[in-house]
Amino acid sequence: MSAATPAPLRIACVGAFGRMGDRVRAAVDEADDAILSGALEAAGHPRIGDEIAPGVRLVDDAAAALGGADVAIDFTLPRVTCAVVRVAAERGVAYVCGTTGLSASDRAELEAAAQRIPIVLAPNFSVAVNVLAHLVGEATRLLGPSYDVEIVELHHGAKRDAPSGTALRLAEAVADARGEELRKRLVASRDGETGARPAQAIGVQALRGGDNPGEHTVLFLGRGERLELIHRAATRDHFAVGALRAARWLRGRAPGLYTMQQVLGLETG
Ligand code: NAD
Repeated sequence: MSAATPAPLRIACVGAFGRMGDRVRAAVDEADDAILSGALEAAGHPRIGDEIAPGVRLVDDAAAALGGADVAIDFTLPRVTCAVVRVAAERGVAYVCGTTGLSASDRAELEAAAQRIPIVLAPNFSVAVNVLAHLVGEATRLLGPSYDVEIVELHHGAKRDAPSGTALRLAEAVADARGEELRKRLVASRDGETGARPAQAIGVQALRGGDNPGEHTVLFLGRGERLELIHRAATRDHFAVGALRAARWLRGRAPGLYTMQQVLGLETG
């Protein structure tokens, strides 16, 4: 390797045999500027101890998995993320977090770790979905308050959280564009005598079933017309490619909690 070529980015994959972990390992395998340096799975996973890539054994110990890594990429469960990000902060390993369904206290855990390491936290690493969030903000501003906004998301039946982190992120883009707080406007379920739709409500409905990796539709409902902005994922690969892009962006970055919008240059700060 010539002196000018940067060393490959060393990636630790957290939740390495999950649906997303599988795609992250494939994306790293395909990249010519990154290598897998570690892989973490749950204790008791049948592949623990196997050599899953040259020189890389699947382990159930976070410190061992993160040893020698530049960046960890994590798509797991909130409790796992909170435990592993602590280890990353102790060891100075940057972090890409795709886990959704994080509570306020889980987020506080990530914010504490971000005092010591750079972290990209995104409910959706798809480049197109992040462009969608940007367009949703623009459409909200351009159409004005007379258009009702409803968001519908569809995911595979094994998804554990609802509404999806992406749907909430899109709802936040609407609230931000209106200069409002999402928690005051969010209507995430309707049943029984709901009364008329409150003006300025931001509705989010979750559908579950089959093997769909994710669909999001944002409807701007006006009088006699509607605008729909739709993203449909056909595979999970683009999430992994986006996560790897975030991992590259983190190299040499100062500690802090960053968004995918920042990685893509769609927002500063
Ligand atoms: P999954 O259930 O297929 O994978 C999770 C993996 O984590 C499993 O392999 C499981 O064994 C492993 N795991 C459990 N405990 C562990 C531990 N203690 N240490 C290490 N690994 C452990 O789930 P998935 O479909 O891959 O989704 C994972 C998360 O990623 C979910 O929160 C999902 O919503 C989110 N997700 C985010 C994006 C995004 O772009 N941000 C995209 C897709 C999915």
